[in-house]
Amino acid sequence: MDLGIKGRKAIVCAGSKGLGRGCALALAREGVEVTIIARGREALEKTAEDIRSETGVRVTTIAADITTPDGRQAALAACPEPDILINNAGGPPPGDFREWDRDIWIKALDANMLTPIEMIKATVDGMIARRFGRIVNITSSAVKAPIDILGLSNGARSGLTGFVAGIARKTIVHNVTINNLLPGVFATDTMFSRVEAAARNSKMSFEDAKAARLKTVPAGRFGDPDEFGAMCAYICSAHTSYVTGQNFLIDGGAYPGTF
Ligand code: NAP
Repeated sequence: MDLGIKGRKAIVCAGSKGLGRGCALALAREGVEVTIIARGREALEKTAEDIRSETGVRVTTIAADITTPDGRQAALAACPEPDILINNAGGPPPGDFREWDRDIWIKALDANMLTPIEMIKATVDGMIARRFGRIVNITSSAVKAPIDILGLSNGARSGLTGFVAGIARKTIVHNVTINNLLPGVFATDTMFSRVEAAARNSKMSFEDAKAARLKTVPAGRFGDPDEFGAMCAYICSAHTSYVTGQNFLIDGGAYPGTF
């Protein structure tokens, strides 16, 4: 299927590794020019080179922290008129809510709620004027099925989800959609470091901790960032102008509910 987005321009936040990288690569495979942002220069340039050599599309890199005003400004200066915006950033750490003070909460809200809102604010009116826009926020399956130790994530991402639910109904008339992708467990550095931590805490091997994590996943495996990217590219396609304000779980069947 031709997704109909060849020649479009995308900003992919936190796009040097994992799910963000999967989205940048999938969009580039459809002929989308991508601007990818991440803090670490080395992985960023490596990903950009991988994408260029596979797809031949133009890839711009911005080494910056997307959760800061300067980082966002640099991203927007590099791609001032994006057709597609993928909001993503590192997730907050797990822990006990009794130990989280205001500063810790503000950091989580900044990364996983306020930064995507700022990026939407900076780009949505241009998309409306040009009558095409696709905004995808990478959130978490924890929005739908909260995990106790991920309270910072549950809280910040649910705030973003509520905000998006409101505005997504205002933009669709202009062919600008805003949707959320909710990953379950994917094979990324972040997920593997969580499994390693679980192995250490429960004094088990990495393989045993991984098997324990996968017990809750009917697919019996971690998701592949490439398949996450493919879903993202479809939601960003010309075929989805009737889909907005939705939360798409990509979790190997882990969420047990009917709806
Ligand atoms: P990952 O593989 O560790 O990659 C994270 C990417 O984000 C890297 O490119 C990293 O580059 C970049 N990044 C992190 N903080 C940034 C910042 N402040 N500014 C710019 N770039 C930043 O992580 P992932 O697994 O893809 O996770 C992506 C998001 O999905 C996270 O919010 C995570 O909590 C959420 N999530 C993941 C899973 C999963 O199974 N993997 C499940 C649920 C939710 P630098 O470090 O160089 O900046």
